Amino acid sequence: APSDPNEEYYNTLTWSAKFFHSAMNLPEGKTCYDYFRERGILPETISAFGLGYAFDDWDKLHHAAQKDGISSEILSELGLIKYTEKGQKYYDAFRARAMFPIFSPGGKVVGFGGRILTGQKDAPKYINSPESKIYEKSKILFAMNFAKDEIRRREEAILVEGYMDVISLHQVGIKNAVASSGTSLTTEQARLLKRYTKNILFIYDGDAAGIKAMMRGIDVLIEEGLHASVLTLPDGNDPDSFVREEGKDTFLSFIKAHRSSFLDFKLQVLENDGGFESPEATTESIRALLESLSKLPDELALEMYLKELSQKLDVGLSTVQKELGKIQNRRRKPSRQPMPSSYPVEAFPEPL
Ligand code: ATP
Ligand code: MN
Ligand code: MN
Ligand code: MN
Repeated sequence: APSDPNEEYYNTLTWSAKFFHSAMNLPEGKTCYDYFRERGILPETISAFGLGYAFDDWDKLHHAAQKDGISSEILSELGLIKYTEKGQKYYDAFRARAMFPIFSPGGKVVGFGGRILTGQKDAPKYINSPESKIYEKSKILFAMNFAKDEIRRREEAILVEGYMDVISLHQVGIKNAVASSGTSLTTEQARLLKRYTKNILFIYDGDAAGIKAMMRGIDVLIEEGLHASVLTLPDGNDPDSFVREEGKDTFLSFIKAHRSSFLDFKLQVLENDGGFESPEATTESIRALLESLSKLPDELALEMYLKELSQKLDVGLSTVQKELGKIQNRRRKPSRQPMPSSYPVEAFPEPL
């Protein structure tokens, strides 16, 4: 059989992951190993997630790759090294960073995230591999390869923002967690989740950015027919900091006590923003909620949520139904008619 045309790419990524991981056994990598340990990451977790270290050096990875017969072109295509026209040479893209290999759902390395270790002000906290023929960011959820069996077993996925959130949760045995890695949730990611479960619990960071991202992410999930619920963490916390400070049991009881349906979460966020302080604000809030609900593919579920909305906001059911109808009509009949996909044959007579 012909070999997989992507095999050399995967080999290069696996080779790189090993390079970063084994760097932690060297004296130069000790600061990184200690960094993980200080953040409460156990040695067995470091191994399980293949965490590593990118040297504080311009070309350690590239040199080692050349020695091992790894193609510079492929390394460059994968964003692991970069070429400088000025210096006419390659340099390592990840330097002095804690490295997180990113796996496909099947468990192959497809890219990396790298966290800054020192307090450098000018550099971003995280950098990531660019898109490549191997790494389509919109289709990947961090740690899905580790989480998928547990997601099926528990019939729920926990969706968090960051690498460290996932790793800390898995370490305490909450292994149905995956991360969207800071980007806004995509429809493809929702479909990936749907392969394993319908039930998704958002636990993003308890700050304004996290709440905003959940507001948007909910719509992406419900549009795919997924059941979304939300846990709001106290401001300033993320799942990693919360589980480290409070422990697994408190975290789990916090979930039990404070998780809310996506609709209650949205109502709460709107209320906190003054969205029900005046009739005008309330009108706008209801329209925003109906805009979300209109994405529900399940008509029966939609009916139930409309009832709930009408009760909770004390607005007549027929009124919300009518408003929803307007939104649905607007979607069905776009003001600009699309071009016909084909013209009648007669419009194009044979050339003479
Ligand atoms: P840490 O706990 O290590 O400080 P975090 O995981 O809590 O990091 P956040 O700042 O909350 O990090 O960001 C969540 C996720 O978003 C990160 O894990 C990373 O995947 C992504 N991210 C954060 N900052 C950046 C950035 N500057 N560029 C690209 N991705 C980023
Ligand atoms: Mn954040
Ligand atoms: Mn964090
Ligand atoms: Mn965070």
